[in-house]
Amino acid sequence: MNAAHNANVQPQASTFQPASAPIAPKPWQSEPATCPWPVLRFDDPKEAFQAKSTRQLLQSLAVFQTCACRPFVDNAGWLLPACRRTARPVVDWAVRHTFFKHFCAGECVDSIRPTVAYLAANGIRPILQYAAEDNVRDDAADSTDMAAVAEAAERACDCNLAIFMRSVRDSDNVASTAIVAIKVTALAPPALLERASAALAGMQAPEDRGALSARLQEALAPHLTPAEQASLDKCVRRLDALATAVQAKGNARMMVDAEHSHFQPAIDALALRLQRRHNRAAPVIFNTYQCYLKDTAARLDADIARAAREGWKFGAKAVRGAYLVFERAHAAALGADSPVQDTLEATHANYDRCVERVLRVVADGGGELMVASHNQASVAAAAAAMQRLGLHPATSGVYFGQLLGMADHLSFTLGRSGFRAHKILPYGPVPETLQYLLRRAQENSDFAGGCAKEVRMIRAELGRRWRERWGVARVWPGDAAGGDCQAPAPTLSASQS
Ligand SMILES: Cc1cc2nc3c(=O)[nH]c(=O)nc-3n(C[C@H](O)[C@H](O)[C@H](O)COP(=O)(O)OP(=O)(O)OC[C@H]3O[C@@H](n4cnc5c(N)ncnc54)[C@H](O)[C@@H]3O)c2cc1C
Repeated sequence: MNAAHNANVQPQASTFQPASAPIAPKPWQSEPATCPWPVLRFDDPKEAFQAKSTRQLLQSLAVFQTCACRPFVDNAGWLLPACRRTARPVVDWAVRHTFFKHFCAGECVDSIRPTVAYLAANGIRPILQYAAEDNVRDDAADSTDMAAVAEAAERACDCNLAIFMRSVRDSDNVASTAIVAIKVTALAPPALLERASAALAGMQAPEDRGALSARLQEALAPHLTPAEQASLDKCVRRLDALATAVQAKGNARMMVDAEHSHFQPAIDALALRLQRRHNRAAPVIFNTYQCYLKDTAARLDADIARAAREGWKFGAKAVRGAYLVFERAHAAALGADSPVQDTLEATHANYDRCVERVLRVVADGGGELMVASHNQASVAAAAAAMQRLGLHPATSGVYFGQLLGMADHLSFTLGRSGFRAHKILPYGPVPETLQYLLRRAQENSDFAGGCAKEVRMIRAELGRRWRERWGVARVWPGDAAGGDCQAPAPTLSASQS
C-alpha cells in the first residue's frame, strides 16, 4: 500500500480490509442497473484530460516545468519583490499570464465565473478562497508599543474577517452549494492562540483537548491577561459571525483549516465550540485533521464519540498536513519529540485509517467528510471504501478536495464520474496572491514528488494527441493510450458492487 501512495509509482488496488461490521445495503445499491458504481480511471490521460484543450495542457506543463527549476523557485521569495520594485507592470503581467492563470481563478468574483462554469461542466464544485494573505503578526512586528501592536493585530483580524465574509457572500453568487475555507490564525493574534494552546495542552490529554471548549473562555481566563481575554472574546465573536453567515445560507459548509501544531489545541477547541452550536441539524462546520500527526487518530476517535454523545453532526476534512519541515524543526528547537509521524509510510497508513474511520460515521448518518488529498492511492482507497460502505458517490456527504491547478487527473475523473469533487479556487488581485503562488511553486518544485504523476500524464496525453493529429503510430512500446501512465485496470468496476 505504501508504495502505491508515492506519486511516481503505479498505484495498486486498495488493500483495505473489508468492513468489520456488515453494513445494510443502501437502496441505490439494490438497483445496479439504474445506478451502477462509477468506474474511476485515474490513470487514463485521455479520459482525465478530455475537458482540457491542448493549449491548456501545454500551459500546465510549462508551469510545472518552471516549478521544477530549483534555482528559480528557491530564490523567488526575494527575486520577485526585487523585480517588482524595478519593473512592476512587466512582472505582474508575466505572473498573471503564467502562475496566476494556472493556480488562481481570477482577480475578483466576476472574473472567476468562467472557471466556475468550466469546472461545473465537469462536475466539479468550487471552494472559494480569497488568496490575499494578511499576516496578523507582521502588521505589528515593527512597533515596540505593546498596546499599538495589539491594536494593529486586532485591526488585521477585522480585515481578514471582512475578507472571509466576502468569500461567504461571493460563494452565493457562483454556486448553490457553497463551501468556504477559513484560517483561525487570520482571526486571532497568533501569540494568543499559542498561549491558549499551551494552556489547553497542560489541562488535558492530547486526544481530548477539545473537551473544555464548551466553557473555553472561562477555562482559559486564569491563564490569560485581561487584554488577551478580550482578544479571545473578539476572536470567538468573529468566528460566530462567520459560522452564522454560513449556516444562514442553508446548505453551505465552513471548513476550519488546520495549522501549526502549537496553535492547534486552541483551533480545535474553537472549532468544536462552533460545531456544538451550528452542527445540530447538519454538519455546517468541518474541523481539519492532519494525519501526519501522531495523536490525530486518538483525537478523531474522541471527537467522533463526543459528537455522538452530545447529539450533533460530525464534520471532518482529512489532510496529511502541510507543515512537516516546520513541525520537525520546531520540536527539535524545543528539544521535544516531533509530533509528526516518523515515516511517510506511517502518514499514508494513518491517513487511510482516519478516512475509513470517518466514512463509517458518514455511513451511519452521523456526519460528513472531505477527503482533501492529491494522493491518488488515498483517493482511490476512499472511493473503494465508499463503495463497500454503501455510500452514494454524489449524495452521501463525502467530498473530495484538490487545489486549482493540481491533481486535475483526480478532480476531473471524480467530477465526471459523479463524485462530489471540489477545487479550492483561490482568487484576489495578482500582487496580493504572490505569497500563495510562491507556496504552490515550492510545493510543485520536486518532479519526483506530488506533481510527477500529473506531469507524466500531461506529456502522455499531448503525445497521444500529436500522434492522433498527424496519424503517427506509437513510437515506444506500452504507449497505447497513455504511455507509462496507463493503469493495467480500473480501480473500481460496476461488477464489484
Ligand atoms: C483541499 C485541500 C485542503 C487542505 N487543507 C489543509 C489544511 O487545512 N491544513 C494543512 O495542514 N494542510 C492542508 N492541505 C495540504 C495537505 O495537508 C498536504 O500538504 C497536501 O495535500 C499533500 O498531501 P497529499 O495528501 O496530497 O499526499 P502526498 O502528496 O502523497 O503526501 C505528501 C504529504 O505526506 C506527508 N509526508 C511527507 N514526507 C513525510 C515523512 N517523511 N514523514 C511523515 N510524513 C510525511 C506530508 O504531510 C506531506 O505534505 C490541504 C490540501 C488540500 C488538497
